[in-house]
Amino acid sequence: MTRRHLTIVAVVLLLGAWGFLPEFTITMLNYIGLYALVALGLVLLTGVGGMTSFGQAAFVGLGAYATAWFCTAPAGAALAGLAPGSALLPWIGLVVGLVLSAAVAWFLGSVTLRLSGHYLPLGTIAWGLSLYFLFGNLEFLGGHTGMAGLPALSVGGVTLSSVRELGLVTWTVLLLTLWALSNLLDSREGRAIRSLKTGRVMAESMGVDTARYRIKVFVLAALLASLSGWMYAHLQRFVNPTPFNLSIGIEYLFMAVVGGAGHLWGAVLGAAIITLMKQYLQDILPSLLGASGNFEVVVFGLLMLLVLQRFSDGLWPSLALRVNRYLKPSPAATSQAVRSLAERTLPEKGSVVLAASAVSKKFGGLLANNNVNLDVRAGEVHALIGPNGAGKSTFFNMISGVDDPSSGEVKLLGKGMNGQPSRAFAAGGLGRTFQHVRLLGTRSVLDNVALGAHQRGHRGWLASMLRLDRAEEAALMAEARRQIERCGLGAHLHEAAGSLALGQQRVVEIARALAGQPSVLLLDEPAAGLRHLEKQALAKLLTQLRAEGLAILVVEHDMEFVMNIADRITVLEFGQVIAHGSPAVVQADPAVLAAYLGGAEGALTP
Ligand code: ADP
Ligand code: MG
Repeated sequence: MTRRHLTIVAVVLLLGAWGFLPEFTITMLNYIGLYALVALGLVLLTGVGGMTSFGQAAFVGLGAYATAWFCTAPAGAALAGLAPGSALLPWIGLVVGLVLSAAVAWFLGSVTLRLSGHYLPLGTIAWGLSLYFLFGNLEFLGGHTGMAGLPALSVGGVTLSSVRELGLVTWTVLLLTLWALSNLLDSREGRAIRSLKTGRVMAESMGVDTARYRIKVFVLAALLASLSGWMYAHLQRFVNPTPFNLSIGIEYLFMAVVGGAGHLWGAVLGAAIITLMKQYLQDILPSLLGASGNFEVVVFGLLMLLVLQRFSDGLWPSLALRVNRYLKPSPAATSQAVRSLAERTLPEKGSVVLAASAVSKKFGGLLANNNVNLDVRAGEVHALIGPNGAGKSTFFNMISGVDDPSSGEVKLLGKGMNGQPSRAFAAGGLGRTFQHVRLLGTRSVLDNVALGAHQRGHRGWLASMLRLDRAEEAALMAEARRQIERCGLGAHLHEAAGSLALGQQRVVEIARALAGQPSVLLLDEPAAGLRHLEKQALAKLLTQLRAEGLAILVVEHDMEFVMNIADRITVLEFGQVIAHGSPAVVQADPAVLAAYLGGAEGALTP
């Protein structure tokens, strides 16, 4: 039995038992389904995307109030141009609720998400509080008493008046959402989403517009909350502000975190645990303590602390680990006829691909780069060397869009790039690695490298959710695999990138850069941490890439490596170019010898 089989069996069992389960169980399942839908959005937002929202309950409220107003207020029906009581009104309410939620989320996201730090959580708290008080104080939304008399939903002429019928819809929506979101995470777009939590600088260098992805994830989470609110309103047939206040928003976050914020099914588990626990504690505590009061809140809080202390990743991972022992691994995706990806035509050998003219960078009073001129040509390896603190990494950042020069100009394939973000450099054909390795450590080598090919695919979120992206995905995966094998890591395709030796992780970064099919490759200390044989293999790879016409710029401390491979060398000291030329010329330069004899770099000759 594989995991997929188990899921199917569970769904079929649930469906089969649906008609026979007691009313109370069905009601609980219904609430669990509704809460899980909200928690699912939070799993995506918090666990996967690394953003925290305390305000999801307010989005639920928006969905609930939108449908309540259209269905019960005469003005609502009039605005929709329908007769009061029309069966279409809930659908108008649904659409308006979703549109409003998306608009609010987009606005909140674009205000707070471009800033780093705690702006989003604070923004969602402010939003959660203000919407709650707004619901309570608006006369036309019924104030604190709320609005009653919502109709039952009717789908295709069938009225869903009982909890049992409505619950079927809730769970169908939930299961479809789980399917769509797991498809999304298992796609090119999903790889970009997974990079948001810890790898934003890296992802930008792979061509991902991370600010945009963050806003889109936030909007998606808000849409799921709003959808849940819509169904909630038609389950209760009544809305008031209480279920949409900030403390419920925090409870939703609890569900995601306790269940396992990084796992979609964790949302369902978390929603189930918290819903059942609250119900149970409410019943049993007063009789146990012989006094009435909201003791469940206290006990609940303590239990939460315990769970979080014991299972910091939530309960789902430990549960899955236990169950997985009895399951067969899912068969690997069958390789389809692989479509080929768009190929970039490389610039002619010898032409200048990347050029920095008179580039300077000031950090306060420190001139980290002073009037640096350097170009990299197609079909050559250009090495940038210099003692520690000479300004090599600073220069690297400026010619790759991570940082802007204070003065001077950077051109990529003849195009002025000043002021452009690093994803524009990626789009222009620049691939790079980082001095401090930036990989998604828990993801496989294959996944990490496939992210490098991000900009060679085009399928969007909806296509990914509906699995219409499979041909493109197969092509991206085939490309990633090809680059990994070419770099000599074919044996480690499916291992977590973080479990490889540091030197191998550097090679994974090279494969990732190559997957973007760059015209120019920037390598920041690629040989650091490699063993002798690995260095030889790397030198061979770079020689081969040079022969293919790539322009390569390396920053490297290993002089033997540099002298063997470089066609030209530029030497920096205190931010200034002190020498430039072939290895033989640079090695004989008195200024270079002085800089290196005075520095801690050791001998310059191999
Ligand atoms: P290298 O990579 O050659 O070792 P760097 O480019 O990292 O050198 O650093 C060059 C100089 O600029 C160093 O003196 C460093 O302290 C300084 N520097 C680098 N980045 C910053 C920064 N963000 N703010 C202030 N000073 C910096
Ligand atoms: Mg450096």
